[in-house]
Amino acid sequence: MPTAYIETYGCAQNESDSEKLRGMLKNLGYTFGDDAKTADVVIYNTCAVRENAELKVFGTIGVLKPVKAERPDMLIGVCGCMMQQQHIAEEIKRKYKQVDFVFGTNALYRFPEILAAARNERVFDITEDEEIVEGTPVFRDPPPLAKVPVMYGCNNFCAYCVVPLVRGRERSRKPEDILAEIRSLVADSYKEVTLLGQNVNSYDGGAGAGNTFPQLLTEVCKIDGLERVRFVTSHPKDISDELIDVMAKEPKICKQLHLPIQAGSNKVLADMNRGYTQEKYMSIIAKLRAKMPNITFTSDIIVGFPTEGNEEFEDTLKVLREAEFDMIFSFIFSPRKGTPAENMQSVLTDEEKHTNFNRMVDLQNEISKRKADAYVGTIQKVLIEGKSKTNEQFMSGRTDGGKIVIVETGEDKIGEILDVKITRATTWTLYGEVV
Ligand code: SAH
Ligand code: SF4
Repeated sequence: MPTAYIETYGCAQNESDSEKLRGMLKNLGYTFGDDAKTADVVIYNTCAVRENAELKVFGTIGVLKPVKAERPDMLIGVCGCMMQQQHIAEEIKRKYKQVDFVFGTNALYRFPEILAAARNERVFDITEDEEIVEGTPVFRDPPPLAKVPVMYGCNNFCAYCVVPLVRGRERSRKPEDILAEIRSLVADSYKEVTLLGQNVNSYDGGAGAGNTFPQLLTEVCKIDGLERVRFVTSHPKDISDELIDVMAKEPKICKQLHLPIQAGSNKVLADMNRGYTQEKYMSIIAKLRAKMPNITFTSDIIVGFPTEGNEEFEDTLKVLREAEFDMIFSFIFSPRKGTPAENMQSVLTDEEKHTNFNRMVDLQNEISKRKADAYVGTIQKVLIEGKSKTNEQFMSGRTDGGKIVIVETGEDKIGEILDVKITRATTWTLYGEVV
């Protein structure tokens, strides 16, 4: 049987797209290996959000040049967000002759045709058409966790962000398609779903019916046998009281929210076109905590947006101290082609940005450790996911709030929710015993 190798960069949406690529390849008779050098088909599913992710992809494709020279029958493809940008697709065409096929995010479902055509000539399929195509086969990791996209694209045009340019306008899947997919996942022993979208709070049911995400959540929670529901990402400007009420009311919805703030300064937030202020953001956090005292928060932060000086950066540190996120994903601003911030002059030097970045990481590590320590001695409901990556003897699972817990249970407990007493904590991981 022919083998395929897929390498996925970037976010959960890309991982979900790669599950579809695997589904289509499986239908074509492929098995999967973990070595690009020996595979018959190699695919890089790329991310365009920051420059370093792009540079890594170019480096990786470069390495395959001699491999392709030795095995001309292998097919090398590159897809995903980077390829949806014309200038990148052109660069691959000109400089990376070892690449046999390129397709953007909109052409994903046409992959089988693209692969077939690539056996005869190089294929470049970068269409602007943004449709939703249901019914593409999906080959997921084994239960208990599954990712389910509910919408694609983004209409927000944050000044720094390339996503609206490479993922197109917002379009929602129909609730019946989403519910049918989740029902069949539950029938296949999946216990937890994460609903995916760049901004799930503007989910509109596929019919332009306004924000219907709380209704969708309510319907999803009715599915028997489904234990847990999470969702990413929520845009702070679109968090409604209705959403907060549904979260608080539905026991299946995990009390965890990823709520990217990006920056603390109101000037920078306005320049980023984020549509909220620091005060508004903090009031949302307060509202959520009032209704769900144990809710955990994670956030995304960009350091060094062009108009962020040292004074503005202090506002970000202030937010970290006050919001007390359990964890943050932090990035240094990376100029992206075609975005409003691409050619803005930075008020800080790269060195100053790095100093600020490190200060922020130090502060957050302190907060995260303190938050993790507070779990010691408590009993948590942990959904057992699989073997621990660092020690095969132990299993790894997550609390309702999304904290990783390492515990000794035996493999037969995968997919079960167990009461675990937390005995020890490091910054990112809890350790415990089944009670
Ligand atoms: N739709 C999601 C996330 C999109 S990209 C949201 O709105 O939150 C994931 C994260 O990458 C963003 O939250 C942001 O923090 C970061 N990011 C996006 N563009 C960036 C850029 N040009 N430079 C640095 N970080 C960026
Ligand atoms: Fe990018 Fe903003 Fe859309 Fe998120 S909401 S994908 S950061 S433009």
